[in-house]
Amino acid sequence: METQTPRNHSSSNPMHKMMLSCYKATELVSLSYERKLSRGEQFKLYTHTMMCKGCRQFLKNTEILDNMLQAHKEYEKNAKK
Ligand SMILES: [Zn+2]
Repeated sequence: METQTPRNHSSSNPMHKMMLSCYKATELVSLSYERKLSRGEQFKLYTHTMMCKGCRQFLKNTEILDNMLQAHKEYEKNAKK
């Protein structure tokens, strides 16, 4: 007897294949306390939080989101010139 059919579960969405899982995202957050995240890690975390309300909420309590946004702004500024 099937009790839980993962219908419409996020993992069936191809977009989510590119995204970090929430577990990975929070792992990166705690990692960022130990060392600076690489550009790729920051970007992954950034895109995840843009799409995931839960993690955005979680990151709101940290200064990491601020740093990421700051880094992103810098990046766009440099890319424009
Ligand atoms: Zn998430």
